[in-house]
Amino acid sequence: MKTALVCGAGGFIGSHMVKLLKKEGFWVRGVDLKYPEFSPTPADDFIIGDLRDPQVCKFTVDRPFDEVYQFAADMGGAGFVFTGENDADIMHNSALINLNMLEACYKRNLKRIFYSSSACMYPEYNQKDPDNPNCAEDCAYPAEPDSEYGWEKLFSERLYLAFHRNYGMEVRIARYHNIFGPEGIWQGGREKAPAALCRKVAENPPGGEIDIWGDGNQTRSFLYIDECLEGTLRLMRSDFVGPVNIGSDEMVTINRMADMIMGIADKKLTKRHVPGPQGVRGRNSDNRLIFAQLGWKPSQPLEVGMRVTYNWVAEQVKKAGKSG
Ligand code: NAD
Repeated sequence: MKTALVCGAGGFIGSHMVKLLKKEGFWVRGVDLKYPEFSPTPADDFIIGDLRDPQVCKFTVDRPFDEVYQFAADMGGAGFVFTGENDADIMHNSALINLNMLEACYKRNLKRIFYSSSACMYPEYNQKDPDNPNCAEDCAYPAEPDSEYGWEKLFSERLYLAFHRNYGMEVRIARYHNIFGPEGIWQGGREKAPAALCRKVAENPPGGEIDIWGDGNQTRSFLYIDECLEGTLRLMRSDFVGPVNIGSDEMVTINRMADMIMGIADKKLTKRHVPGPQGVRGRNSDNRLIFAQLGWKPSQPLEVGMRVTYNWVAEQVKKAGKSG
């Protein structure tokens, strides 16, 4: 039986990955500070532990694994990452997790480890034009991410690559672009734009108002969780190290996404543009490299995944007694 370790298995992407690996017949160990919030984990073994502690990493990697997925990070949406208030925690905590996990895997002679980097590592100067952002993988340098979160991702990419070069570890690195779907954080300050907008639409009665941070003309692309996992497994099991974008290339403005969600909910609401953290002006996944290397790229239209996600968030809002 094949075995896998999923770090960050209590979080959004990690908890979905555990389910997928179980469906594939793996024996899976998860590790996180917490259990998944929205449904029980099917992991065969789940360690509650803090990966900033090298002893916890050593204990977690106390046996060989065929595949290790490193999703654990101190992270959140724009309201968490772009205010500047959490910079020290973001850099310190996530860097420690990556340093410790890599060391533990190396000492145990584990070869294959996947690292989830982010499009937030791309330089700000390439993302000023909302209609023409440049996120080709080879445009990462000279580096100028617009957040400390992005700088930590860049540092950790280089750390994994160094372990690959010096110690022959088979690392695989993806730069995720805005992953969304059911069972992601939808309230409390760490939620991302898709879930936050779904929540605002679900909470407001028809004719009400929803807040949009900035003018809403900033652009992004959003990738549904199922395609994120498919790309991740394809990369992990290929010979390609990366870093490579895993994202959708269906770029939309935040205003357009809000309109799409209102259409799905069949609710007409007024968009009120208010000051708020926004990140770069434009971003889109450039999928030329992933297609060239893996012969695959995400293709599902945004609206398909958004429909599933809206219905799930609306159900949570209803359970919380906050439906509009
Ligand atoms: P998430 O916050 O839902 O999951 C991260 C998990 O890591 C959480 O469950 C958290 O408890 C755990 N964690 C944090 N500190 C820990 C510690 N010290 N010890 C053990 N566990 C700890 O985030 P996610 O959306 O599932 O993202 C997973 C990975 O993908 C992260 O590395 C993130 O930076 C990266 N990523 C995500 C997106 C996205 O849109 N979701 C985009 C780009 C990159």
